[in-house]
Amino acid sequence: MKIYDLIGIGFGPSNIALAIALEEQKQTGHHAESFFIEKQPSFAWHANMMLDNAHMQVSFLKDLVTMRNPASHFTFINYLHQKNRLQDFINLKTFFPSRREFNDYLAWAAAHFDHCCAYGEEVIEVLPEKKGDEVSLLRVRSRDNAQTVHERLTRSLVISIGGHPRIPDCFSSLKGDARVFHSNNYLKEIAQHTHAQKIAVVGAGQSASEIFMDLHHRFDTTQIDLIMRARSIKPSDDSPFVNEIFNTDFTDYVFNSPEQERSKILNEFWHTNYAAPDLVLIEQIFNVFYQQKVAGAERHRFLRRHVVKKALAQPKGIQFILQDLNTNKERIVTYDAVVLATGYHRDHYKSLLNPLMPYFNDLKVDRQYRVCSTLHFKPAIFLQGACEASHGLSDTLLSVTAVRTSEISQAVINLFSQSKSLQAKRTMSSALV
Ligand SMILES: Cc1cc2nc3c(=O)[nH]c(=O)nc-3n(C[C@H](O)[C@H](O)[C@H](O)COP(=O)(O)OP(=O)(O)OC[C@H]3O[C@@H](n4cnc5c(N)ncnc54)[C@H](O)[C@@H]3O)c2cc1C
Repeated sequence: MKIYDLIGIGFGPSNIALAIALEEQKQTGHHAESFFIEKQPSFAWHANMMLDNAHMQVSFLKDLVTMRNPASHFTFINYLHQKNRLQDFINLKTFFPSRREFNDYLAWAAAHFDHCCAYGEEVIEVLPEKKGDEVSLLRVRSRDNAQTVHERLTRSLVISIGGHPRIPDCFSSLKGDARVFHSNNYLKEIAQHTHAQKIAVVGAGQSASEIFMDLHHRFDTTQIDLIMRARSIKPSDDSPFVNEIFNTDFTDYVFNSPEQERSKILNEFWHTNYAAPDLVLIEQIFNVFYQQKVAGAERHRFLRRHVVKKALAQPKGIQFILQDLNTNKERIVTYDAVVLATGYHRDHYKSLLNPLMPYFNDLKVDRQYRVCSTLHFKPAIFLQGACEASHGLSDTLLSVTAVRTSEISQAVINLFSQSKSLQAKRTMSSALV
């Protein structure tokens, strides 16, 4: 079986940027044979949140390459040039393209790597391939849509699988009920609820806010309840000094800080990324509620300081027991559909690596995002998007992608040149004997 130098799991922005970094390293004489496996049938970036009017929350200059190599073929500016839209884009006078356009840019970049990416295959596990006492390679098992299992061998692995929907405990018993769905599936699922009269949106972040506005425009009479524990919706702080936490050198600062200090930094800046929609969006939502007051007719409700104590599947809808945290009073409300804009967790990679757990002490990563392993474990495993605790808040975003992938590709190249020179030394000494 062919042995790859590197297999990447997932082909979202992180691994597309890695594919580019590896491609550009070939120009300096370093060749690593890489392959990527993506579970979606073709490239798509958060397809179910591709809402009208949704914009990037990061400057287009933080694309797949510019921060590392502004002269790359793969810059957003070159994409615009290739599509004959550069001048029109300039006239838009924005740093924040629509999410639809950025998806098109990512798809354009991804298409350059069709020859080394298998779409429609979900990686299900990664197994150790032993040589004596040593684990020398990894066996990556994936399953395609026809349920056929594929196996590939590799010397190194980069796991970039993004987030996994976070479902609050009180909704876990409703798994499989089509009336309750996560924002991750929003556009696909909402199409099944065209006759809904009452919809709950649970959450306080960018997705909850975008979905509230989308539902407001999508339906003429449907009532939307926006439910959150918070007292108000706070805007994301993207002012310049705060934004410095997303600079690439801040990664060093966070990584080199003692563990306690790191969590203090994360807490201090938590609201730059979580439960913090754009100010413009907040103003739009406020205006919807204001216009209701003007009209003297309440359609939607802003249920702030409310928690869902219980959610039960009933024939007539999903019944919530809602607690008002200000009064401690409970009330029962029934919804035709429930959207959980409750965020993502980022530890799903652990289930893929389960068979390898004996080779890791804990799942700490080094500065180059490589999982620390025991001496007898030779393959290198890198994580993208799962290192927020050690590398800072930019880890789950696009901000440092261009630079992070160059650090990982450099680490991969260094590894291979080390093992090649070790092999050469061994061959020389055995020839001398
Ligand atoms: C709606 C939305 C909007 C966002 N907007 C911004 C923004 O404007 N700016 C910003 O900086 N960040 C934004 N983010 C954050 C987002 O995490 C990054 O933009 C970016 O998508 C991270 O890229 P990634 O490749 O690490 O993860 P993802 O984009 O999530 O890609 C992971 C890929 O791995 C695939 N995959 C998962 N599991 C497997 C498996 N087992 N086998 C094979 N393939 C698998 C998935 O199908 C997916 O294609 C947004 C997030 C969301 C949800």
